Amino acid sequence: MPPATRRKRGEGQWALGYREPLNKNEENKKNDDGLNVRRRIIDIYAKRGFDSIDPADLRGRFRWYGLYTQRRPGIDGGKTAVLADEELDDRYFMLRVRIDGGQLTSEQLRTIADISVRYARGTADITDRQNIQLHWVEIENVPTIWERLEAVGLRTTEACGDTPRVIIGCPLAGIAADEVIDATPQLRAVADRYIGSPEFSNLPRKFKTAISGCAAHCTVHEINDVAFVGVVNDAGEVGYDLFVGGGLSTNPMFAKRLGAFVAPERVPEVWAGVTSIFRDYGYRRLRSRARLKFLMQDWGAEKFREVLEKEYLGYALPDGPPPADPLPHRDHVGIRPQKDGDYYVGFAPKAGRVNGELLRVVADLAERYGSGRVRTTTEQKMVILDVPESRTEALADELARHDLQVRPSTFRRQTMACTGIEYCKLAIVETKQRAMDLIDELEKRLPDFDQPLSINLNGCPNACARIQVADIGLKGQLVLDENGDQVEGYQIHLGGQVGASFGRKVRGLKTTSAELTDYIERIVRRFDEQRREGETFAEWV
Ligand code: SF4
Repeated sequence: MPPATRRKRGEGQWALGYREPLNKNEENKKNDDGLNVRRRIIDIYAKRGFDSIDPADLRGRFRWYGLYTQRRPGIDGGKTAVLADEELDDRYFMLRVRIDGGQLTSEQLRTIADISVRYARGTADITDRQNIQLHWVEIENVPTIWERLEAVGLRTTEACGDTPRVIIGCPLAGIAADEVIDATPQLRAVADRYIGSPEFSNLPRKFKTAISGCAAHCTVHEINDVAFVGVVNDAGEVGYDLFVGGGLSTNPMFAKRLGAFVAPERVPEVWAGVTSIFRDYGYRRLRSRARLKFLMQDWGAEKFREVLEKEYLGYALPDGPPPADPLPHRDHVGIRPQKDGDYYVGFAPKAGRVNGELLRVVADLAERYGSGRVRTTTEQKMVILDVPESRTEALADELARHDLQVRPSTFRRQTMACTGIEYCKLAIVETKQRAMDLIDELEKRLPDFDQPLSINLNGCPNACARIQVADIGLKGQLVLDENGDQVEGYQIHLGGQVGASFGRKVRGLKTTSAELTDYIERIVRRFDEQRREGETFAEWV
């Protein structure tokens, strides 16, 4: 039998008639839809406590509502791969609040802040997918937390799990003077219609969406499972170019352009078509091959588009142009004009780490200086909208008093870190605190360095902080120190660029955590001395 046919039969694709679960996760999903766990949380688990939770819910379906058990404190990274889940599990949860498009009102932000202070020991992290994550949440408080979130139009539904995760969008949608299209109506339509729908609550794996008309391409469409990117076609019509099958992690792949033009009103049905293909044809045998990128790798863009049009849409999409090149900085930090004459003020906490008190301050400032609209970004930053020009500097000063920088150093602006060993059960090393310390130290040692340079830290081989597309990507692992002892460290990837290249893993290039700052200082100094005019780090390295 030819290899292609053999693979097809073995991949567990529903559309080919393979409905029997081929692994534990698939079995769990077949036994009960993840969305059904909500009732059990409210009616049973929150009342009877942690020990009453069915393990299949605890380590499976809870994710459909953004709940993960967090890592028990004190377990070192060497034990991550050795210990069973039950041994790694703490009795507390990480709770991910999905913020589609990163769009928040001050009231919503204040609600998250209050929940953080009251139920999550004040913790809050902004993720690189615009979510806000809280830690130390107890099961008894989850129904109350949901009530409070839902009262202001927020939810945790499908924030994790094999589902359509948060839909990312440009934080400046509707206000940026140079945007191609305000994608907010399409983003809302998809979120309102399909999130929490049983139609898409059992996908082969997680599914990431971006919908944006941002000229800077801040939603990094190249690494999403499906992305709609604003374009203008030859007839002068504004719509979207369609990208499918991007994803990082252990087999990074950039999304492929289907070459189709999607009119704004067709976005929800085209999104549903792509997602349906993933649901029906996606690989369900091995978790490590279940992301949509593997199907795209086997099919190619042409076949994918043909199946989308013939089997799911029932019509052919017109061809369309590719998007324009991105701007040099794909973020929204700083003080810039909006198209209505007001200004937006984007600012940088360190590595996405904030806290409940700080979020209250941001909510207050957004009301005092703007109209109360706040945004989270895909770079773990925040933006306050609608500030009159005359008040921007006063706002910047107030933010700076809370160590939120409007004109951050390169290191603060472009360093990202995943959750890491502090809370994540898959982690091998510390990341958040390491990144914050690294920023402080590099700011001291290299105060004049002002070139774009991204430094991303992951606590394990996954890709939650996008190390594969960073200038300097740091993958947490155990390494040997000079005495031959195993210690926390990082494998170094150099020269990654979203959409262009993945960072090169230089053979043997690793550093211990203790030597990390010195290593980065050395390489940054060399880059600064040797680079030619206009040369980027990726080009230089
Ligand atoms: Fe956890 Fe690894 Fe993701 Fe970091 S990259 S949050 S350590 S799974």
